[in-house]
Amino acid sequence: MFEDTSHPAEGRTLLPSLQAIDALSAEQRLEVQAVAQVLPFRVNRYIVDELIDWDRIPDDPIFRLCFPHRDMLDPDDFRTIRDLLVAGATKQQLQECAQGIRARLNPHPAGQTTQNVPTLDGEAVPGVQHKYRETVLVFPSAGQTCHAYCSYCFRWPQFVGDRDLRFATRRIDPVLAYLRSKPEVSDVLLTGGDPLVMKTRVLARTLLPMLDLPSVQTIRIGTKSVAWWPQRFVEDDDADDLLRLFEKVIASGRHLALMAHYSHPRELSTPIAQRAIERIRGTGAVIRCQAPLVRHVNADSDTWAELWRRQVALGVVPYYMFVERDTGPRHYFEVPLAEALCIYTGAVSQVSGLARTARGPVMSCTPGKAQVLGTMDVAGEKRFLLRFLQARDPKWINHVFTARYDEKAAWLDHLRPCEGERFEFEAP
Ligand SMILES: *Cc1c(COP(=O)(O)O)cnc(C)c1O
Ligand code: SF4
Repeated sequence: MFEDTSHPAEGRTLLPSLQAIDALSAEQRLEVQAVAQVLPFRVNRYIVDELIDWDRIPDDPIFRLCFPHRDMLDPDDFRTIRDLLVAGATKQQLQECAQGIRARLNPHPAGQTTQNVPTLDGEAVPGVQHKYRETVLVFPSAGQTCHAYCSYCFRWPQFVGDRDLRFATRRIDPVLAYLRSKPEVSDVLLTGGDPLVMKTRVLARTLLPMLDLPSVQTIRIGTKSVAWWPQRFVEDDDADDLLRLFEKVIASGRHLALMAHYSHPRELSTPIAQRAIERIRGTGAVIRCQAPLVRHVNADSDTWAELWRRQVALGVVPYYMFVERDTGPRHYFEVPLAEALCIYTGAVSQVSGLARTARGPVMSCTPGKAQVLGTMDVAGEKRFLLRFLQARDPKWINHVFTARYDEKAAWLDHLRPCEGERFEFEAP
């Protein structure tokens, strides 16, 4: 699916077409178009004009973060779809070919978002995930897209073809009823996509009723808008209304956190990005920052150290460095755990304690959030040392465990227990 405009709500950021980007050669344009038949692509004026360094493409990290690259597809698949484009294939031919390629990629477009959906009175609560005791994730239906798409997005299946919006919630009442039935839930995390693509008045319909629930003490909003569209907080028509809404949440005595997705220090460098942070902080909301570690974008210690240093200087809090989960083009983005650990260690060792609030590398996987703490030698055998920061079963929280060292392992399910041991969190 090729889509080269920003969110329809932001008419003025419309990017006329790829042809308007002079820095792209004809072949590069064709490559982008070919891959974009398969994987979602969306970019806006701000990214094109202010974030990408066009003198450095195709290796510029923001270009890689947003623009599709031929290496994201299997070489044969790439050639097939490229040749179809050159031959002037019909839309239908292109779509059939793209669907075939997608079906071979992980995560498969169906089913990934149906995990952890809770029930109330025997019925699934739509648009809610509840995995960790204290925190409920809410997916408002109008917030299931983004201002621009990250090329590594693991939620990409929801941006292509027939969107599986069964998952998102249009109605807030069942969510509220569920929260009322679970007084142990202190945190509600609105997520997407990006809930801040929603107009303020639409967001308010989800947010304000939560303030009537005394058990909900923290509201978090997962967002990339601070990086992809800081105008949202500064000059959009309803930017001021959004800030007033944040103030209302704070005035109710709650903690409001923007879980901001910043992948690269350049996203923090523009005056408008800094102004957005200043305005958000002015409401009393806290900005906590997280991003995955991905090849071609931020796979080195200096980039992370600089990212965290700038975050601290701007008064925002480094929170998580994630290991990229299985997205379709995993081979393209993957950074093995051993390398991720070196990158994390190299980054934290360059910064002061205030920037070491970033925990990583962290895998958000089925049993919980597992952090790779380091490596160690036991009786001459090299091991990884890990711990659960979060766990589906609370008894595993802060549980420390070891696994065989494996230079290539890139996810928890690639790890094996050491000789004669088993992972205690797995059923025997
Ligand atoms: C990461 C995550 C949370 C939040 O975890 P914190 O450690 O509290 O930030 C909640 N639910 C799910 C499913 C998550 O993956
Ligand atoms: S902001 Fe998040 S949900 Fe949106 S495209 Fe990027 S990774 Fe995906």
